[in-house]
Amino acid sequence: MTKPFTGGCLCGAVRYSCDGEAMMMGHCHCEDCRRSSGTGHASLLAVAEDTLTLTGEVKGYDRPSDSGNMVTRGFCPTCGSWIYSRNVAMPGMTFLSAASLDDLEVFQPQMHVYRMRAASWDAPSEGVPMFDKMPPGM
Ligand SMILES: [Zn+2]
Ligand SMILES: [Zn+2]
Repeated sequence: MTKPFTGGCLCGAVRYSCDGEAMMMGHCHCEDCRRSSGTGHASLLAVAEDTLTLTGEVKGYDRPSDSGNMVTRGFCPTCGSWIYSRNVAMPGMTFLSAASLDDLEVFQPQMHVYRMRAASWDAPSEGVPMFDKMPPGM
């Protein structure tokens, strides 16, 4: 992984740089990720919040996850691009949307989660571990 890696929204008002390693990378097919991603699933990479420098205004949308923990999704208020998610159950972590990366190859998916919700037209890729919901312990 080249560091720091960078990304941002469609209009360029929100930009970020991260000089840490991603702790986890994967595709999520849950309903909330599908509805907010604009397609069948979200592709997310988890980084430590203190390795992330974010500039520009981000608007947050709060909605509890299946397990009841509040999740905040951060969007650019101008162009609507989804930049990140934060989960109160995982303090200090930010889940960046891989779609916002400048170098898409920074994202190396390790798993598919919520496979049971995947649309037939957005099937998980073979060879990547899959979980019906979340992996055990998450
Ligand atoms: Zn924007
Ligand atoms: Zn999800």
